[in-house]
Amino acid sequence: MSKTGEEKIIHLPPTITVRDLSEHLEASPIEVIKTLMTNGVMANINQEIDFDTAAIVAAELGFEAAPEAVQEAAEAEGVDLPLWRQWIAREPAEALRPRPPVVGILGHVDHGKTTLLDAIRHADVAAGEAGGITQHIGAYQVTHNNRPITFIDTPGHAAFTAMRARGAQGADIVVLVIAADDGVMPQTREAIAHARAAQVPIIVALNKIDRPNANPERVKQQLAEIGLVPDDWDGDTLVVPISAKEGTGLDDLLEAILLVADNANILANPNGKIFGTVIEATQERGRGPVATLLVQNGTLKIGHVVVAGLAQGRIKAMFDHKNNRIEEALPSTPVSVMGLDEIPSAGELFRVVKSTKKARAIVERRRQETSRSGVPEHQGMTLEQLFARVQEGEAQELRLIVKADVQGSVEPITTALKELETEKIGINILHADAGSITENDVMLASTSDAIIIGFNVSPDSAAKRLAEREGVSIRSYNIIYRLTEDIEKALKGMLEPEKREVIIGRANILAVFQASKIGKAAGCRVTEGEIRRNARVRVLRGGESIFEGEIASLKRHQEDVREVRNGFECGIGFKGFNDFQEGDVIECFTIEEVKLF
Ligand code: GDP
Repeated sequence: MSKTGEEKIIHLPPTITVRDLSEHLEASPIEVIKTLMTNGVMANINQEIDFDTAAIVAAELGFEAAPEAVQEAAEAEGVDLPLWRQWIAREPAEALRPRPPVVGILGHVDHGKTTLLDAIRHADVAAGEAGGITQHIGAYQVTHNNRPITFIDTPGHAAFTAMRARGAQGADIVVLVIAADDGVMPQTREAIAHARAAQVPIIVALNKIDRPNANPERVKQQLAEIGLVPDDWDGDTLVVPISAKEGTGLDDLLEAILLVADNANILANPNGKIFGTVIEATQERGRGPVATLLVQNGTLKIGHVVVAGLAQGRIKAMFDHKNNRIEEALPSTPVSVMGLDEIPSAGELFRVVKSTKKARAIVERRRQETSRSGVPEHQGMTLEQLFARVQEGEAQELRLIVKADVQGSVEPITTALKELETEKIGINILHADAGSITENDVMLASTSDAIIIGFNVSPDSAAKRLAEREGVSIRSYNIIYRLTEDIEKALKGMLEPEKREVIIGRANILAVFQASKIGKAAGCRVTEGEIRRNARVRVLRGGESIFEGEIASLKRHQEDVREVRNGFECGIGFKGFNDFQEGDVIECFTIEEVKLF
């Protein structure tokens, strides 16, 4: 293949961290640090080095470094663009070519997203392409006026919120489906927030206009109120009336998509670095992991070695959305591929590397990083990171998502927050609405590095779990001035860390006996973790706490000990508490400070 020669050239920015450079060079950060050292430069993994230094390292590792031609637009929009867009921006400008637009369809449940996706796909099949049995692979392509358009077609129900959020991130254009008989609803607003966070233009598909109670004018009014002024009201949001069910207006919608695409500079370098996004992935019997990849730059070919998160492998076979075997895929093409060793997560970026050895090394390093920090690679923004970015001139705003118990509180809260803006840091409220904090909010926060503020509402358990996994900060308040006070402090970098209880062990009380000096003691068996002499404890009876305080004595075989581990028996006495009984549960915990911002 003629590729090998080209791949040796890498384009680098004026300064780059050691970590990023190692990614470019497909080397480990240690290798890069060692190479720097042999050249007399001492650097740590997060340190920025200049282009010339990076070029020397690159040369030693067998690459030729060229300064990247960052597109003005990308520069102006800053680093908050989705990663793949930043990567495309690093391609040399003269190599960029137009590629088909990638469209994500978002909207409130039951407003007709699935019906619309089906209608567009079937209209294309009906339009006469032979053998048009389409496979569901999470994305498909249709042609309109001889121009291809790619649609992301991932299931829209609640369990797939992550994909939906990332769908907007992977798309060039969002089609927002709104039922004309129902109007703007909570998920409509969420979808708008997703699209805005990803800086993606929105086209409104005003669906179900066949319904007798459809009221397009009312919806347009609602749209105008939330900043999407319809084109026929002299605004710049295209609003296309359709009936997904009857198939009317579809041509107009496709037309609108191409029109917006023409103004959106949708480009990629077909001969550049090969990367894209995982749309969905499953384990298929007899085929192993099968993943749908959306190629966003470069040309993906059979035989390429791909890394996506913790999955890697050589592509053995590749199919398009019509299940045709294909050899290569250009930018904006969705393909389903076989050959990965694991199922990657939807939304993950993938890229092609030189060899299986390299791929394994990258995955190994990621595994180590994940297990060392105990958290996934992608992390929400902490306030410290925000300040670091402000100082580096990379971030100028604190992004917030505001949820309140009633609509009436939303407005005063957002106004109060807006007033806290300083010259240095703006406050960008990505989404504000009434209702509890949901997985959608967490996804939006995670994909756009925002912090969630709850007023008289808390996250549901699914949202809480997701927030922990994604490292998203959620802060709940019930008094407005507390909230504004905190944000103000946060903006000044003075926020007190919040204290959080961490349970370190549990024990069951098996017997109660009289101990000489301290009164009664509990004979216990530790059932989880450990009991520590100097940690705090509470005693639970029937799930209710009946005492919370300190341990007076902790003994094993009459000996005072500092801790007792899971599986062992011990005697525990409590400071100022004797009313425990057989069957009670002891919970041992510490209070840790956590920086929530
Ligand atoms: P989703 O939850 O947004 O994917 O919505 P669906 O596509 O599942 O549609 C929800 C319901 O609305 C289904 O019963 C559809 O048949 C119906 N529906 C969708 N589009 C139209 C339309 O244009 N007109 C009418 N009358 N019903 C529609």
